[in-house]
Amino acid sequence: MRPTDVVSSAWAETLQGINADIFKYSMVKPLPATWVEANMILPGNTSRFAGRFSYDMTPYWREPINHLHESSPVRYVTILKSVQIGATAGIVIPGILYIIAVDPDNTLFTAGDLTLAKKTIEERLDTILRESKLDSLIRPHAIKKGNQRTGDTAASKEYSGGTLTALGTRSADSFRYFSAKNAFVDDFDTAPRDVGGEGTVRDLIEGRQNSFGDSAKTFFISTPTFTASSNIWDQYQLGTQKKWHWPCYNCGSLMVMDWKVELEDKSLAGMVWTMDGKGRLTKGSVAFRCMHCGELTHEKDKYERNLNGIWQSMVAEPIDEYHESYSTNAIIQPTGFTGWEALVRQWLKANPPGQRSNVVLLKGFMNLRLGLPFEEQGDSPRATALMSNIGDYHHGVIPDKTCAADGNGKIILLTLACDLGGVMEQGNEDVRLDWELVAHAQTGATYSIDHGSIGTFKRAFEKKKGDVEDPDRKKWTYTHGSVWTNPETGLPENNCVWPVYEEIIKGAYRSEDENEDVRLVSLTVVDTGFFEKTATQFIINMQDQGLRVYGVKGRTDVKYRPVQRDTKPVRRSTEQPKKLYNLEVNQLKDDLSENMALQKGQDGAQPSGFMNFPQQNEGKYSYKGYFMQFEQEQKIIVKDGETVLGYAWKKKHSNAINHFWDVRVYILASVEIYLDLVRQSDTKYKNLTWEEFVIMITE
Ligand SMILES: [Zn+2]
Repeated sequence: MRPTDVVSSAWAETLQGINADIFKYSMVKPLPATWVEANMILPGNTSRFAGRFSYDMTPYWREPINHLHESSPVRYVTILKSVQIGATAGIVIPGILYIIAVDPDNTLFTAGDLTLAKKTIEERLDTILRESKLDSLIRPHAIKKGNQRTGDTAASKEYSGGTLTALGTRSADSFRYFSAKNAFVDDFDTAPRDVGGEGTVRDLIEGRQNSFGDSAKTFFISTPTFTASSNIWDQYQLGTQKKWHWPCYNCGSLMVMDWKVELEDKSLAGMVWTMDGKGRLTKGSVAFRCMHCGELTHEKDKYERNLNGIWQSMVAEPIDEYHESYSTNAIIQPTGFTGWEALVRQWLKANPPGQRSNVVLLKGFMNLRLGLPFEEQGDSPRATALMSNIGDYHHGVIPDKTCAADGNGKIILLTLACDLGGVMEQGNEDVRLDWELVAHAQTGATYSIDHGSIGTFKRAFEKKKGDVEDPDRKKWTYTHGSVWTNPETGLPENNCVWPVYEEIIKGAYRSEDENEDVRLVSLTVVDTGFFEKTATQFIINMQDQGLRVYGVKGRTDVKYRPVQRDTKPVRRSTEQPKKLYNLEVNQLKDDLSENMALQKGQDGAQPSGFMNFPQQNEGKYSYKGYFMQFEQEQKIIVKDGETVLGYAWKKKHSNAINHFWDVRVYILASVEIYLDLVRQSDTKYKNLTWEEFVIMITE
């Protein structure tokens, strides 16, 4: 038996025991859900479900509210909720009514801020109290002559046996100064994460409820926000983590009511639908697919299936004792609110087929509709996924034919980028320049053309164990005009990386298509982060020859990417606007990791940003020498205390080798720089987008 079952069955036994005791029977308080259905009446003007309240519309709230009963050992109830799920009408208001009428004691109710809390009291609680003819229960504890105090305001209500106090969840003082046996903490995600040395808000509440012993009860309720900073998500993880299940009428199994369930064979269950040939949702195609047998359940059966629904814990052993946590989403919300088809349309807007997700819409959908916290994608790019994008073309050749056959139209740009590594110390110059050449198709898909390294420098951890250092190894340098004498031939040789890189920049690259002219590099970028002086000299040399070569450098004043997105990915340097661009590296890395995660559509169509690679040969595009470098960084959360400031990409460990990942970041920047140059070239191109640029040069 699972621990959660132990709790439930222990409680059931207690209840039975009490009920069996005929002498005590009349002393037993009714179960909250039963009492609420018998006594709570919703007024016609404020609720679309006027009249006597029934949990049949929201049967999933019966179990959580029943934990208010004195016989339930549960101390905490956490509700991770979507919007329109009826938690205020099914938990908060009836919970408060039950306490006032049946089991009175001091109660704290908090919502986002005090105004919101008062609004709920005035518009929801007060009207229902009157309609249910329970308003006579509200009366002042003491009536003094000439005192206007009625014991009944929006912020405070007095009743025999207790006081209800309304406050703002956002304010730590709400929990610091109020001692209440029962607390309904709504909008819990707005609560401060940390209350200056006093721990969490839950710690505060726990401290204030100490005198009530095991009988105190706290309900945490909220839609979640960001995973890393979500109070309600934290509490959900501590409890029993229950999800609502429907029975499947075909196979008899219980179906977890999740939006998307990926099965072992990669097929999907949960919400399913079909699209017509024009990329539109097929009307009437939305259904819920059983993850056990594939049977479809339709929305018209929602009411009836909900009535037969059941909560099931998703963990073998919860971390907290006596903590029930529940997760809900819009699939099961009452009929009359946003329906399945509208939900799927919202989902498709956030995840347009064949395109990048709209992060803002997706976050909204996850939080408000699925009741789940959201983390931006791309925390951990996978190289193996990238390797499945290896195509049939060969490196060193421009794959014009392949590109057209892939549905990506014409190749319109060829850009080259490099990352500089090594040491440049007096008497010890030993460097390596890693580079990649990439073709950009008009649809935004890319084709890697070639990659390589100039120089032989390796960090200590890059060397294999037992590697013997060759005393005669040719060491390379960034020093212009440097010469090295080959000990075997006694002849002088160039050992400066720049002339070699220059050859790649000036290369003429032939096409797969014999009718096409050779292609030249459209724009080259050089990393100037660490070896700025010699790199800048090289850039000047190249620009003097009329070549588009620019320096790139991560902004050193920006340590993370703020939670809100979308600053300019590249900016002309103020000191050297003609030579150098500053990069928003964390933003470009987000884009790169998103591109890495892109998949072809069912018809093989490649979304914008999709990365193609040539056949692996001559040691190029190997897992160890190339692809592995794309998964050496991870996205981490940057905090100030408990406040999430944003995200930053960091190496997974200090020995991680990630040159080609960096090179690809510069490649992404190279396209932005190219567009910036076009925009500067004429005022009529001032606001030119990639799409407009494509039209301009292809039509
Ligand atoms: Zn089934």
